[in-house]
Amino acid sequence: LSRFIALQRNKTAVNIGPEQRVKEFGQDKFYAEGGLLWCKTCNEPVDHVRRQTITDHLGTKKHTDTIIGCIERSTAATAAKDTLVMELVEAFMAANIPLEKVDNPTMRSFMQKNLKGGGGIPQANTLRELYLKRQSCRQLQSSQDGTLGSRLCCITLSI
Ligand SMILES: [Zn+2]
Repeated sequence: LSRFIALQRNKTAVNIGPEQRVKEFGQDKFYAEGGLLWCKTCNEPVDHVRRQTITDHLGTKKHTDTIIGCIERSTAATAAKDTLVMELVEAFMAANIPLEKVDNPTMRSFMQKNLKGGGGIPQANTLRELYLKRQSCRQLQSSQDGTLGSRLCCITLSI
């Protein structure tokens, strides 16, 4: 009987195409191309015939390291943009310039051309919201439990 099951399994495995594995593991992880199953994170083909090979791949150090690298890079990019936005708001506030001025088309094109990441500066109402959130974060941070405050701050900003 076990031999029969083994045969059955093999038969099923051979018939499985990369597309099925994409469905099974998620389009965010894999894509099918040229009859191969590609890992989106590592950008390399993974043997799709055996399910175990794919599961193993997802657990490899190389794969997880690539994911961590991606997260770190995107966090760094977000942080840079965040600083730009906050400093911009602070500069406007200090100079008594209404935040609405960032919506001015000439101002906007100036920022896009001359500020690194200036194209990603949100509209005035979003800026105000972000700034207020940041201010309440700062209050939290300066409160007794700074760690909790900064953690809450991260959560608030990522919303
Ligand atoms: Zn991978």
